[in-house]
Amino acid sequence: MHSRMFVHGFTAALTVALTLAGGQAYASPDSGDQLLAARVVTYDASASAEFRAAVDRGAAIWNESVDAVELRPAATGQRANIRILADNGWPRALTTSLGNGTVYIGREAVNEGYDTVRISAHELGHILGLPDRKPGPCTSLMSGSSAGVSCTNPYPNTAEKSEVEGNFGAALTGPAPAARAVEIVD
Ligand SMILES: [Zn+2]
Repeated sequence: MHSRMFVHGFTAALTVALTLAGGQAYASPDSGDQLLAARVVTYDASASAEFRAAVDRGAAIWNESVDAVELRPAATGQRANIRILADNGWPRALTTSLGNGTVYIGREAVNEGYDTVRISAHELGHILGLPDRKPGPCTSLMSGSSAGVSCTNPYPNTAEKSEVEGNFGAALTGPAPAARAVEIVD
């Protein structure tokens, strides 16, 4: 994972940032500096019930796949960018703006046999700005349920990774996108 650095002139500050973050640099949330590297998007999976591990794996897959954004569990009491809940409906994402929204890991699809890690990564993909690409092959994460229950691939393909890099790359340098609530089912 490479880091794009934008540092205000102090080598000492850079050294401290690298040390604190274990080799990766992040903007300190209470500093007035510009974002140093990946934009951190926090998620709260405390209401994801039996899907908690799948949700964490889905987030980890995105972190392995892209550089421009990092999904990180919210600290206790911290307001998260993404709320992730289990419910009995079909999996869906309610996006409010890039990197913000609510994900439902719906048991309806799980009960039909769809893979919980693929569902989790797919719904997080919506929050990261990706639309559904259906019908599509199993190699596409955003083909969702159209790839069938036998498809367990939880990884975004090259185009999907590039699109997320572009979304957050633009967000790092451009104006914040306007908030717009959109519900994406599946
Ligand atoms: Zn979808």
